Amino acid sequence: MAIKVFEDIYKIEVVLPKNPLKAINVYVIKGEDKSLIIDTGFNQEECIDSLFKGLEELNIDIKETELFITHLHSDHSGMAGIFKDAGVKIYAGEVDGKYINNMTSLAYWEEFDKFKILFDLEKDKVTFSEHPGYKYCLREPVEFTYVKEGYGIQVGKYFFEVVDIPGHTPGHIGLYERNHKLFFGGDHILDKITPNIGYWGAEENILAVYFNSLAKIYSFDIDILFPAHRNIITDHTRRINELILHHKERLNEILNILKDGELTARDVASKMKWSIRAKDWDDFPNAQKWFASSEAMSHLVHLYYSGKVDKILSDGKYLFRLK
Ligand SMILES: [Zn+2]
Repeated sequence: MAIKVFEDIYKIEVVLPKNPLKAINVYVIKGEDKSLIIDTGFNQEECIDSLFKGLEELNIDIKETELFITHLHSDHSGMAGIFKDAGVKIYAGEVDGKYINNMTSLAYWEEFDKFKILFDLEKDKVTFSEHPGYKYCLREPVEFTYVKEGYGIQVGKYFFEVVDIPGHTPGHIGLYERNHKLFFGGDHILDKITPNIGYWGAEENILAVYFNSLAKIYSFDIDILFPAHRNIITDHTRRINELILHHKERLNEILNILKDGELTARDVASKMKWSIRAKDWDDFPNAQKWFASSEAMSHLVHLYYSGKVDKILSDGKYLFRLK
């Protein structure tokens, strides 16, 4: 269903079946001759139906749209192939755009699968094939229009500027409309749930990168922040303070867990508190074991760069212990 959230701006809640995120907010900015769509939903039948029903309600023909992808995750980029086939211009940041296209090859996922050794997830017998990033991504590369910080997109009366907000992913981008004080932030700042900050290897201390991007947006003049999941945010500085506190508590929780001795990311994750409906670690769906271990790893690596823990590579896996 399409809901009007601001003048000429609509939200389509695209369902994400069997996913704890429940839905993604796809935003549509209606212009006179073209409309801008922000993010897509998974490359999965229910999502496709849900998005196209919303576009139909708004009387929007996909051919008269442009697509803006905030970041690489499949729930945001999965349907890009459908837009490509319709001849639509697709904006993405270069870093995440390249990831999205790499993810269409098995070689990427075979490389990704090596993280299970690094995280010590081998003992849970997880494989990349259960990862939603693999299951619902696009199947063929698409040609993106790469946009950099400051790039401008005019839609109707709105003028959007691209803003770099890496952290949730290595090349996450958002759109700022300074005249109306609106910000489309993808998964950078969410309310009620906290964005997953995972480990990416290439940018080791990604949590530090995320903190910097939170500080950057803190200083922006924003009346309404439109996030890709859950509630629209009207007090972004309050939410940023909460998110920073959340990660500081996480870092402290991990330091406490490490008092038990030397542990891997997976073992730390299995002892952390998670707000997911599962009895214990064994009851976690395998996809969630990936996310949890990846999140534990990003925090452990941050503690390493803060000089609080040692990081030892042993038999292909990282072990962490208090200094
Ligand atoms: Zn995401």
